[in-house]
Amino acid sequence: MIQDSTHAPVRFHQFEALRRRLSQEKFAMYERDFASYKSGVTGENKFKDFMNGMLPKEMTMLYDLRLELHGKHVQIDALVLAPSFMQLIELKNFAGELTIYPASQQLQRNFKGEIETFTDPLDQAQTNARKLLEWCSKNKLVHAKNLPIYPQVIFTNEKTPYTIEPLNSQIQQYYIRPPALLKKLTQLSAQKNEAILDAAQINQLAKKLRKSSEAYRPKYEQFSHIDRELIDGVRCPICVNKRMNYKPRKIVWHCESCGLVDKHAHKQAIADYVFLIGDKASNRDMREFLRIESRKTMYRMFKELDIPVKGEKRGAHYCLEKVFDKGWLAK
Ligand SMILES: [Zn+2]
Repeated sequence: MIQDSTHAPVRFHQFEALRRRLSQEKFAMYERDFASYKSGVTGENKFKDFMNGMLPKEMTMLYDLRLELHGKHVQIDALVLAPSFMQLIELKNFAGELTIYPASQQLQRNFKGEIETFTDPLDQAQTNARKLLEWCSKNKLVHAKNLPIYPQVIFTNEKTPYTIEPLNSQIQQYYIRPPALLKKLTQLSAQKNEAILDAAQINQLAKKLRKSSEAYRPKYEQFSHIDRELIDGVRCPICVNKRMNYKPRKIVWHCESCGLVDKHAHKQAIADYVFLIGDKASNRDMREFLRIESRKTMYRMFKELDIPVKGEKRGAHYCLEKVFDKGWLAK
């Protein structure tokens, strides 16, 4: 069984919001990060597609876990729960040519002649495996804390060659490509054939992990230095860099440039606010951002979107957390 995350991809929405809200010149600063994020997501999706229907039926695979431990988060790309072990997978979708130096915990990437050095992903997987064990122990998951956890790095880009320096068969097994995973799982099952968890316990553990996984939330301080450079207003979804004007009599947004009329265009703008500025806003804060003059209009829009309000009078603010629900924008 494969279980997927129910959280909206916050970082994706953040990049898209930045693209809409910054001048082209300013957005260029984020373009590289965006490309590397998108490449990661592409790798993850390719891996999910590949694994679909392939996992032995006694195992469960969980994706994209984010577990709280000592006030920080342990981020796990994929986790296999088997009767006698867990396998913690770090997915990497690097392009270029890779050389791994396990002795110094480094990975070097040569991309079109440009050399870049990263932390060895195996080091990350090993650290996360230790933290997961601690998390299980802290959460009193008695059976789970007795399961060995195997770290695994999977390179999802089939065009990327990698070498390990110096080559060591002991270490080599920790780095594979997706097609080798099933063989690896069979091997691990054979090695540890004494089952610790039965099917019901695996289910229970999967449920607990999934429930405890916390969604990624924006770190707003990350964007505070560009606060003033964000372009406000409701943007036309067709012209992108044109503002739409609110027509109170018709209760619609109108783009003078392409003529588009839209009743719900403010929804995207509210989402941009939540992904970049804050998850709380007063009536005035949002009016300033959307460029709406009437307090009543803003009040009505929040009400229609069923956004809860906290506090009274001057201290009243809207709690916009709902925007993080998967599919809020699509509704
Ligand atoms: Zn337009």
